[in-house]
Amino acid sequence: MQDYQVSARKYRPPRFEELVGQDHITTTLRNAIAKGQLAQAYLFCGPRGVGKTSCARILAKTINCSFRDSHQEACGECPSCQSFDQGRSLAIHELDAASNNSVDDIRSLVEQVRYPPQGSDYKVYIIDEVHMLSTAAFNALLKTLEEPPTYAKFILATTEKHKILPTILSRCQVFDFKRIRLQDIADRLALVCRSEEIVYENDALLTIASRSDGALRDALTMLDQLAGFSGGNLTNSLVCDQLGVLDKALFVDCTKTMFAGDPTQTLQALDSMVARGYDSILWVLGMASHFRNLLMAKTPGTTELIDSGQEYRQQLIIQSQETTTDMLLAGLHLLNQVELQYRQSRQPRLLVETAVMKICYLAQRRQKNTNPEPIQGPKLPAESETHPLQGITTRLPVADFKTPAQVKIQSKVPSESSPNNLQELRVQESSGQALKDFSDQKSIPETQGGANFQKEHSSKPISSNTQNTGTATTVDFLQTLRGHLGKTQGNTKPIPKESSHQWSPPPPSSCQNLHKLWQHLVQECRDHNLGGLEGILSRNMPLEEIQDRPPGSNAKASNEPLFLSVILYSDTEKSLFDGEKQGILDFLVEFGGFGTRPQWAIQQQENNTQREKFLTEPERFNRLNAENEDFKDLSTRLKLFLI
Ligand SMILES: [Zn+2]
Repeated sequence: MQDYQVSARKYRPPRFEELVGQDHITTTLRNAIAKGQLAQAYLFCGPRGVGKTSCARILAKTINCSFRDSHQEACGECPSCQSFDQGRSLAIHELDAASNNSVDDIRSLVEQVRYPPQGSDYKVYIIDEVHMLSTAAFNALLKTLEEPPTYAKFILATTEKHKILPTILSRCQVFDFKRIRLQDIADRLALVCRSEEIVYENDALLTIASRSDGALRDALTMLDQLAGFSGGNLTNSLVCDQLGVLDKALFVDCTKTMFAGDPTQTLQALDSMVARGYDSILWVLGMASHFRNLLMAKTPGTTELIDSGQEYRQQLIIQSQETTTDMLLAGLHLLNQVELQYRQSRQPRLLVETAVMKICYLAQRRQKNTNPEPIQGPKLPAESETHPLQGITTRLPVADFKTPAQVKIQSKVPSESSPNNLQELRVQESSGQALKDFSDQKSIPETQGGANFQKEHSSKPISSNTQNTGTATTVDFLQTLRGHLGKTQGNTKPIPKESSHQWSPPPPSSCQNLHKLWQHLVQECRDHNLGGLEGILSRNMPLEEIQDRPPGSNAKASNEPLFLSVILYSDTEKSLFDGEKQGILDFLVEFGGFGTRPQWAIQQQENNTQREKFLTEPERFNRLNAENEDFKDLSTRLKLFLI
């Protein structure tokens, strides 16, 4: 049998310039050698397999070389270099601190330091995994590390810098090794493949590199194994199968089909992936990573943050132009939710499939919104009895599948809708604001989710043919309503851009306006199936004359702010109302004609109304017996009883 060496050892870099991906360190070391300003101790930190020990050996070899070149590289031919290459140099001492971590081990090492080197300029001590040394051993090393003989150089290497004592750190020059970039690893693998006469696909090498987590040694080990398995012919599909990695092409294709609003093909791809033995969480994680890369590819400045091969990067740049940021963010949010719920779910695959359908559905909605159907000009409420938004068609999707959200909206929404219902309704109605809609309502601060967003919209000049008129978030319908009322009141000029609060219509009819506007709001909620909000508003309809004041306030002054009293019965209602109250107030101020800005007087109360509960048959029988004398009489006479 031939002497076989694994690639990680066989292709260990012999020179600084061949050390992959650590230019910031090799440059510093070479400059230090050129100037003759070597420190007595170095600490090399970084993840496994990135070249710490290799760099230490190169440094030891280079400083002992008799004929260094102008780039401060070892010649490789002098006796010192040759003894290094053959592994018989006496100038280098390697200690594995993982197994030699006691005080005695360090004491014997310190003993050796006292003897000058034979036949070389320096003695180099490389202590690997130095964080494994005991505290006593560290302390035994301290003195020697601080003031060793001029010929002694220490190189400590560790993967866990935080475990090194500060007293040691302060005596060393610390170099942090970086994870190696994907392309750099792939290039190195290609070099090895060419030397070993292995036929390879570029994608296959990139796949190996992506699994190595930035560690070249891991990548080389995988390459050896896969080359042996494949008989020297590395194809990407073989590598993906062997390493349990999903091909990037799958994510590119799935993104294409999902953003085209086609769940069928995506679900089929998912199914075939599961049939090949992959866990569907791999698809979720890979897809999220792909969406992240697409977001990065959208702007040239962030494209560099994608650690991938050139080919995939080009694909990302092209695909990122076909997608929108809000769709990607909404998709990412959905995938993250799946990832969080996956382990707890009893039907994890259903979670993934639902996410796929939701993303497809959002894409469909977006397509329809960007290609709006012609909208009939709505009639003005003052001129006719019809509602301002009556002429606008609500564009429900023509979908061949039904998400839970869609099923819900087709049924009557209960007057007390839960936050989830509301979210689903919003998803149903608006994909343009997909991110806002999918995010947890409670997590959005009022100033961001409500006021700012509302202000952003209200600052735009109003036009009756705005594309958003078909969507139905409260913000949108308020905007639409605002447009119509602006026309009704003969206010043809747009609302001033700076602030809606500065617009001051005539004050006398304020209470009438308020009542009328409030009715409009309730009607809008009803039309747009915002049942929860409609319930709150209709229950708290302000009277024409009376406005509530805060408790204890009896004084009546003309410049006193108007208080809009709202009673809320549950936390659900509160969170729902909190999200919308700023927008409603802005709207009322614009058209209400108030001297001062109204304020909310919100009271939260327990809802004491007894709900009718479902009765079982015995309960019904007993209740009838108790409440109805005739029935009781009859049942007694006929000796009726429940079986
Ligand atoms: Zn040499």
